[in-house]
Amino acid sequence: MQKPNKRLEGQTCIVTGSSDGIGEAVAKAMAMEGANIVINYHSSKEEAEEVADWISKNSDAGNAIVVKCDVSKEDEVKNMFKKTVTEFGTVDVCVANAGLQLDHPLHEMPLKDWQRVIDVNLTGQFLCAKEAIIEFKRRGMRPEVSKSLGKIIHMSSVHEVIPWAGHANYTASKGGLVMLMQTICQEYGPDRIRCNSIAPGAIKTDINKDVWSTQEGRDGMLKLIPYKQIGVPDDIGSVASWLASDESEYINGTTIFVDGGMTCYPGFTANG
Ligand code: NAD
Repeated sequence: MQKPNKRLEGQTCIVTGSSDGIGEAVAKAMAMEGANIVINYHSSKEEAEEVADWISKNSDAGNAIVVKCDVSKEDEVKNMFKKTVTEFGTVDVCVANAGLQLDHPLHEMPLKDWQRVIDVNLTGQFLCAKEAIIEFKRRGMRPEVSKSLGKIIHMSSVHEVIPWAGHANYTASKGGLVMLMQTICQEYGPDRIRCNSIAPGAIKTDINKDVWSTQEGRDGMLKLIPYKQIGVPDDIGSVASWLASDESEYINGTTIFVDGGMTCYPGFTANG
């Protein structure tokens, strides 16, 4: 993890799905920048509390609280924001990270698995962005902590542009995020709200453990990555904390691909 330099001091960040994986790395990176962190979990309270303990031991500025919330449920998302405001006074950064895969060939995909992935990966991001915007506007500018009224970061995927057979629900959810993010940028940029996405490539977490935990799976992944390295959650944490800070103030309405070059079609390296 990078050395802290307090670029988020005095700010509060909600990171959804941050009891493990990419969300955990984002929460820790933002805490090291001095932010208060809301660790949202869906199923593992114990893991979320471990992340909070790590933050209280390692960050000398920010504090952390743990909040249970299913991001696909509006009342639970509202409650998460309410608890955050009660504890820390406001929200400055919302990282809508929670996501899941339920994979099937399209012709075998049960409607409930299509619906669940859209509910969490797309509707959940809409609900979090909506509550964040409401809170940013209620609170008003705080020039002493940030040049922006608030920052929203959607955790997308390279599959917002790369089709992926057997994962139509997932690709549709991430493709939908492009228009959600860009529309928020257009609609709320005049309020000085910045909205961007991060699109990870192959990052070692539970979501793809079945692939990277075998040699065959790792070799298959590396064929897709020009940089010949599988990513780790900290690769995303460092980019997210920079994207939330004023150092990236003029970045708005963009997806930042953090993928070792996966979107550069490595299959064409020796042919085509
Ligand atoms: P992960 O499975 O480790 O983490 C996903 C997190 O989301 C978990 O903490 C899970 O409990 C939480 N979650 C699931 N449903 C939820 C709900 N309804 N409400 C609240 N939380 C919920 O996987 P990850 O790789 O850390 O994924 C994080 C994000 O990054 C996802 O949006 C995923 O699509 C995206 N992503 C990951 C990769 C990768 O290679 N790991 C690549 C591209 C995009």
